[in-house]
Amino acid sequence: MTLKTNTTSMKSLQTQLVHDAHDERHHGAVTPPIYQNSLFTFETVAAYENASLDQMNRHVYTRGNNPTVYELEKKLAALEGADSARCFASGMAAISSAILSVVKCGDHIVCVDQAYGPAKRFMTEYLPKFQVATTFVDGTSVEAVRAAIRPNTSLVYLESPSSLLFALQDIQACADIAHQAGALVLIDNTWATPINQNPLALGVDLVIHSLTKYVGGHSDALGGAVLGRKELMEGLFHNEFLLLGSIMAPQTAALIMRGLRTLPLRMKQHQESGLEIARFLERQHWVASVSHPGLPSHPQHQLATQQMSGFSSVFCFETQIDAERMKQWANKLELFRIGVSWGGYESLVLVNATGANSDRVHVRLYIGLEDPADIIADISAACEYAGIPCHP
Ligand code: PLP
Repeated sequence: MTLKTNTTSMKSLQTQLVHDAHDERHHGAVTPPIYQNSLFTFETVAAYENASLDQMNRHVYTRGNNPTVYELEKKLAALEGADSARCFASGMAAISSAILSVVKCGDHIVCVDQAYGPAKRFMTEYLPKFQVATTFVDGTSVEAVRAAIRPNTSLVYLESPSSLLFALQDIQACADIAHQAGALVLIDNTWATPINQNPLALGVDLVIHSLTKYVGGHSDALGGAVLGRKELMEGLFHNEFLLLGSIMAPQTAALIMRGLRTLPLRMKQHQESGLEIARFLERQHWVASVSHPGLPSHPQHQLATQQMSGFSSVFCFETQIDAERMKQWANKLELFRIGVSWGGYESLVLVNATGANSDRVHVRLYIGLEDPADIIADISAACEYAGIPCHP
């Protein structure tokens, strides 16, 4: 994507995200208008017929292309280094459509065992009706991925880092293994965002994002995206995108584009605040371990620094303090809301959401855009209330 300016130089991605590359001036409106229309009309029957033959590149019907959604798709593709992107109504719509665009009846998928729960459920409970089977593997082991490949494996599904336990996969090594076996590789890149990780450059074929998280950034819109090279995206457009009909609404695209304008700035702040809170927790005697890929104590920290250029602010810690007391602690937090999802302005907490049967309590934190000093004070005050000794 190039920005239209009165100079010939290419602008950096951060600048391109702030400016819009719209072709028309729209009466000088500083943000492009929202094209709130379901269809596009033509001067002649011949003009309509020509456009219908090229629905992928023309505006015929909003279930295929809409100028507002397309503006967002161009920006996302530029950020991920993809030939093209398609925006969906949710991250799950992007995930299920991307998987369906790759597999056929009788195929096999290798998926990392820590992938997002509903994505796993799509593989275990929905795809079997098309005789598509899935093997779940420990994604931290390249050998486990290799060993799970079968002659009919057509897809290797990655999520790195994973969003509940924050384990990584060696993306390039997994892509090599899949390609040697003739399979494609898909990754959920939601945790890292396109600011901190570009998996297409590491050999991945399709990237998906839940735009509901950091990219939207304001907890007011749901969205998803699939990105990749031209031929894969063409197949996906004509089949899963147009036929399943889960395109993002133009209003939503405008909201997510607003989020995208500040994504690089927000991610800098999230990284800084997230690491500050993670280091603070690591110093606490009541915390048994902190799992944040940006901490040197993370078992895959070196891999994290190789394949990512920065870190986001969702992570977890474990404690031997009993679950009841940790729930009292979470209830007392003032700056953390209790709820699913992440990526907005507000900090969030979940206690024991992994479903794992462990003698330790698992706490997932999402660090929002509050002042980190206030967040630390909030955690300390909740500790005092719950009778947990906390150190500065
Ligand atoms: N991928 C990850 C890592 C997620 O955490 C989520 C949602 O929590 C999704 C995908 C699905 O996104 P959505 O909720 O937009 O459907």
